[in-house]
Amino acid sequence: MTQRAIILDRDGVILETVEGYLDNPNSAIFIPGSIDALCVLLSHDIPLGIATNQAGIATGKITHEQTAAIQRLIDGVLLDQTGRTFKAVRVCPHAKDVGCSCRKPKPGLLLAAANDMSVDPADCVYVGDHSDDWRAAINADMLPVLVRTGRGRTAELDIRSWYPGPFVRALTFDSLSAALPFLLDWTSR
Ligand SMILES: [Mg+2]
Ligand SMILES: [Zn+2]
Repeated sequence: MTQRAIILDRDGVILETVEGYLDNPNSAIFIPGSIDALCVLLSHDIPLGIATNQAGIATGKITHEQTAAIQRLIDGVLLDQTGRTFKAVRVCPHAKDVGCSCRKPKPGLLLAAANDMSVDPADCVYVGDHSDDWRAAINADMLPVLVRTGRGRTAELDIRSWYPGPFVRALTFDSLSAALPFLLDWTSR
């Protein structure tokens, strides 16, 4: 059996989205149930990765160090509870308009995370809250999963206007926590 993995967007999936830019771990708020869901996945030995656009780095609104500090906060909570954490963390620090190959909806960031974990992209699900997350997953040959936290409710309406409804319905969940049974089942196949 090949190893299946889960890659996640950070803001709107694990952490609440904020107005402007999240620049301080003290301002980070975990979406209810997200840490518990990650702990369950880690306890099942499922490799987890993060792939997040942080254009605020390019525009000087946030620094690499602030982004790393927020990642350390998440890692610390998971390590405390399970002794494990993410196997891959990939951040696109580029501005929207510079045409880098990593910024979602391009597939580069997701492919790099899969490569870090030595898993085939086709054996990855990508969990996001934005239509660009869905597009990036498709572009990377990964299975898209949408959560309705963060900007997910708006994204759901958008995605349903250009992607077949039955697929969107089957792959959309109220939260990461609500997606947990699906994710456990999919990664065990
Ligand atoms: Mg997001
Ligand atoms: Zn980039």
